[in-house]
Parts: sequence; structure tokens; C-alpha cells
Amino acid sequence: MNFVAAQSIKRGLLATGHYRRALRRSRFPGVAVLGYHALRSDDWPTGSMAFENLHVRASTFEAHCRLMRETCDPITLDDWRAALLGTAPLPPRPVLATFDDGYRSVFTIAAPILAAFDLPAVVFACSDPIERRSLLWFDDVAERDGEAAVEPWKGREYERWLAECATAPRIVADADPRALMTIPELQALSRQRGIEIGAHTSRHAILARATPAAQREEIGENRAALEAWIGRPVRAFAYPNGRPGVDYNGETLTILRELGFDFGFTMRPAFATAAEPPLERSRFMVVAEVMGPELAHRMAYTWPR
Ligand SMILES: [Zn+2]
Repeated sequence: MNFVAAQSIKRGLLATGHYRRALRRSRFPGVAVLGYHALRSDDWPTGSMAFENLHVRASTFEAHCRLMRETCDPITLDDWRAALLGTAPLPPRPVLATFDDGYRSVFTIAAPILAAFDLPAVVFACSDPIERRSLLWFDDVAERDGEAAVEPWKGREYERWLAECATAPRIVADADPRALMTIPELQALSRQRGIEIGAHTSRHAILARATPAAQREEIGENRAALEAWIGRPVRAFAYPNGRPGVDYNGETLTILRELGFDFGFTMRPAFATAAEPPLERSRFMVVAEVMGPELAHRMAYTWPR
């Protein structure tokens, strides 16, 4: 069956309530943590910026939120902490939306939709570009040298990357779709019901390429800045790029443990089960092409059980 036909069948299955019935009968083997990055309004022209698939359309995100609210059991990290302490068990289909990087569209587009559905979320933010009002290094490199130039830099040694990619990324206007939140916006977001702010390094460093001292600085400075801005402890972390064994290492885990983080999120696509280490939680990455029916299909059937 071709892609278009499959999509059309999935749309029908969602419209007739098939996925809703299937999901309501099911129990997840762990928490379904969804890994988002940024949002975009529906009227943005396609092909207008790099890494477009990381910017989910508002209407798609709204369909995802409706699905989470109507067929799953949205939880906060505090609900999860309580379950780990044995205070209250997790519901049958726990789901949690997360957003990496700190894009401004999470505040302007996602936050009102989350509020409308009373959905919790965790937002992992890089503090250095927030403070400078600059692009994230990969958006800057993509603008300078094209999207394909970014991947090799993820494999290069930290000091060289810092000097050539992350020391002076270009400043962007707040209206630019690649802009990060301002400090007051991050503060306002942190006060929205159900929203927790987490750390993601100061500059979106690939931690495995850095010395333990540099890793500690990237993580520690990021957390200190976020805590000073929001006036609350920051205890959750998401690894930049997030591939276990590739983008972070054993030193990273030691540092997070020493700094008192209690949750670490990777990009390993699986349900986050009770068996996995708290500092290496799995997540399902969600990109723009995953429309509402496709997310329902994955939740009900194709995500590995
Ligand atoms: Zn990231």
C-alpha cells in the first residue's frame, strides 16, 4: 500500500473512532514521552527554513493534544516522581509532552493549546542563546553553510565546535521562527499550570565530545541560569541530540547524578518503562509530518510494546 492510501485509511480510522476505542482498551508498558522541538503557524510557506520538520504545524499539534486528552492519561513529572516513590501509581496510558531547545513558538503557539486542553509539558531550554537573543548553533550553521553542514559538527571536538559554531551565533529578531523565548516569556511559561522547565546545556553542546569539566560547565551554568530566571529548582535534563552511547557518555551520567538531576531524557524511541534508568528515559520524537491520525496509529499499534 502506498503512503497516501495508508494515510487516508488512518484518517478514516481516526474519524470513525477506531483508534480511540483501541487506545481506551489498552495499557501502555510505560510512559509515552513525546519529544517535540518547535511549532509553526499553518500559513508558513513550506521550504522557508532549515530543519522544517522539527517545527510542527499548530493544527497538527492541536490534533495531538486532543488525542492525548481524549484517549490517554496526561501526567506531570511530579506525578511520575510520586509513582516512583510509591505514593500513587501511574494511570494506564501515561503520556507526557516535552519540548527541546527553548524555541519561542513553544510559548507563542504550543502553550495556549496546551492550556486549552489542560495538558502538562516539560520544556528543556538552552540558556546561552536565550540570553544573547541568538540562533541556536545548528540553525546558525544551517543559515551560513546549509543544513548538510550541521551533522559533521556534531562529531567534532568540543573546543573547536565552541570556537567555530557556538561562540558568536547571529542575533535574530523575536519574530523569526527560529528565535528562542525571551527570559520574561520563559518565566511566564514556567508559571503555566503543569509546565516544568528542564535543562538542555547552555549552548546545545554534544556532551560526549567534551571533557568532563566542559560538560559540567555546560550543564551547571545552564541550570543556574534557568533557576535564577524562573525562581524554582531545575531537576530534569534532556541530552542534546539524545542518542544513547553517542551524544553523551558515562561522565555525563555521573555529573547529572552529582548535580542532583532526577530525570534524564534521551531520544531512544520506546516507552519509558520502570526497568530503564531514571537518567536515561526513552522518548518518541514527533516531527511535523506525523499528523493526528498517524500519532493515533503509532500510539495504538506500532510503537514497540
Ligand atoms: Zn535539542
